[in-house]
Amino acid sequence: MNTSLPVTILKGIGDKKSELLKRMRIYSIEDILNYYPRDYEKNMPITKIANIKMDEVNVIEGSICLVTQNIRKKNLVMTKTKIRDNTGEIYAIWFSQPYLKNKLKLGNKYIFKGKIQYKYNIIQISSPEIYEINKYETTINSLKPLYPLSKNISMNFISTVIKQAIEYTRNQLKDYLPEEIRRDYNMAEYNYAIRQIHNPDNYESLEEARKRLIFDEFLLFQLGLSLIKEHTSVINNSFVIQEVLAEKVFIEKLPYTLTNAQKKVWDEIKVELKSDKTMNRLVQGDVGSGKTVVAALALLTIAENNYQGCMMAPTEVLAKQHYKSVTELLSPLGIEVGLLVGSMTKKNKEDVYNRLKNGQIKVLIGTHAVIQEKVEFENLALVITDEQHRFGVKQREALASKGLYPHTLVMSATPIPRTLALIVYGDMDVSVIDEMPPGRQKIETFSVNTSYRDRIYSFVEGEISNGRQVYIICPMIEDSESLELESVISYTEKIKGKISENIKIEYLHGKMKSKEKNNIMERFSNNEIDILVSTTVIEVGVNVPNATLMIIENAERFGLAGLHQLRGRVGRGNYKSYCILVTDSKNTITKKRMDVMCKYTDGFVISEYDLKLRGPGDVFGLKQHGLPEFRIADIFRDIEILKEANCLAKKIIEEDNKLSKEKYRYLNEKINKFFTNTVEQISL
Ligand code: ADP
Ligand code: MG
Repeated sequence: MNTSLPVTILKGIGDKKSELLKRMRIYSIEDILNYYPRDYEKNMPITKIANIKMDEVNVIEGSICLVTQNIRKKNLVMTKTKIRDNTGEIYAIWFSQPYLKNKLKLGNKYIFKGKIQYKYNIIQISSPEIYEINKYETTINSLKPLYPLSKNISMNFISTVIKQAIEYTRNQLKDYLPEEIRRDYNMAEYNYAIRQIHNPDNYESLEEARKRLIFDEFLLFQLGLSLIKEHTSVINNSFVIQEVLAEKVFIEKLPYTLTNAQKKVWDEIKVELKSDKTMNRLVQGDVGSGKTVVAALALLTIAENNYQGCMMAPTEVLAKQHYKSVTELLSPLGIEVGLLVGSMTKKNKEDVYNRLKNGQIKVLIGTHAVIQEKVEFENLALVITDEQHRFGVKQREALASKGLYPHTLVMSATPIPRTLALIVYGDMDVSVIDEMPPGRQKIETFSVNTSYRDRIYSFVEGEISNGRQVYIICPMIEDSESLELESVISYTEKIKGKISENIKIEYLHGKMKSKEKNNIMERFSNNEIDILVSTTVIEVGVNVPNATLMIIENAERFGLAGLHQLRGRVGRGNYKSYCILVTDSKNTITKKRMDVMCKYTDGFVISEYDLKLRGPGDVFGLKQHGLPEFRIADIFRDIEILKEANCLAKKIIEEDNKLSKEKYRYLNEKINKFFTNTVEQISL
């Protein structure tokens, strides 16, 4: 059964329609079959007229005992009937459907579906759909699929196309899951699942179909990532690295000793750089665990081997901060570090381009612009991305097309629940910095309501008089009429009146010009500002060790991921630090989330709770990792199925890491098809 044939072999799909379908990523018969309903419309049960519910859609069965028609203004024909069952009577009214008068026969019974309303002084069912008795009954137990639509693609059209595609396949689809697996995991057969998902016999068969297809989606995705990993691991290392003498000097010069975890991770990186394999590694370490210095070690080693390395950060503020710390670490060793961010003048950029091309700059730090603009490297051997930006398969390909595959290192402070790790990082090797530098104290966290404001402000003054600095986070930039939330601008005004005059307060938000933002951040870094009132723009990566107090207003508005990231901005030096979560919310989930924050500091522990509690916002920053959007699966709702798929994926890879066995042939083919459609989405 060849399901890769184009959709145009089906009736009713010409060039125009196929263009429209392409936009929905539907090219082949197979794509059509895998275009699943987003929901199902259920036929409603029949209600007796005595029991109808006002202002809701009701279905009633009754005989016609009166039909009248009159013309209202502007030729508007109104058809009015009286319907009767053994409990009562009700009017039904339609507009502009003159033919109804002949269709609805006095004394005949019909089924009517429509909204019950009180209008023109009568209770009526408004413009109801009309069904012959037996027709409604045959559909009463069926679930009508509702498909996601797009412009110029109607429900009717997509339903007909899918019907045709199913008929075309005549149950001859190859089931790519070997029978023994289906048996072990209690999964429905593929043809059955496809038929039932599009045209379910009943709820039970629909559930069977859903389970199978959700399972498939997880499994295909995870196996696909494993295959990519397998594939990249055989890419020959074009940049074999030697260990360098400068490494020792560098480590000795540091004002601290590396933690064992940092050493371990650096060793893992080094082994790989020296091997014949191209590195594709993720370094995971909680906020403040000291990832930057590990990155600097890698950049140093690359530079000393006479190659170039580059490091990308998600924001300019962060890029500049990295530039500063990496320059401090590397320039004493004679390594030239360059900066490339959007706000630089054209002239400065040109200068950087030139010095990169001729190999003068060994280490480039910047925002994402560094790989997107017309940047040419002399011999780029390592790309590091910090936080947020996951370096996707696509970009790896883009870079490779410029020349050779560089090593890649992704650094993330987002701990993710173990169950999701395979989905997110399945194509990478992972190193974990699972230890904090010594001397860090637990960030004391409190959750209070707004009645504590005055006490909070005196605490703020106390910290500042000790020379420390304070962050205050508000969810909004400006006051909004519809939401009663604290906003950066008015909060700054408000607090100025309540706090000693010689305390310097500034605000920061995402809509400010990047020059202004940088200026504020710089002054805060230099302790020229005492209190920084900010939106979450400071969430990622910013490092001001002198800041010891984080106040989060409307804490209910943030998910655990966000709260954890924000709290990570304090406690970065040797001073005792505090986090105060301010909320008046009485919601029980919010209360639980606040409790988790007060009790735990370990990001991995918090991430597990996050998965359980789910708050507002993006659950544990998963979007940051570029998760694909699944067609039918939902990693949160379907977590149990995900676990099963995890388990099977691991088993299969252990048994046959290239999926080259005959029994996996169709599975392998399916993964390839699945991935050509999905991979664009996992990048970045
Ligand atoms: P993150 O992992 O969040 O990126 P950073 O790399 O910004 O963390 O490091 C946080 C702070 O910890 C920095 O001020 C850095 O100088 C310091 N640091 C890093 N490693 C150590 C260490 N081994 N001992 C003491 N301080 C360290
Ligand atoms: Mg960092």
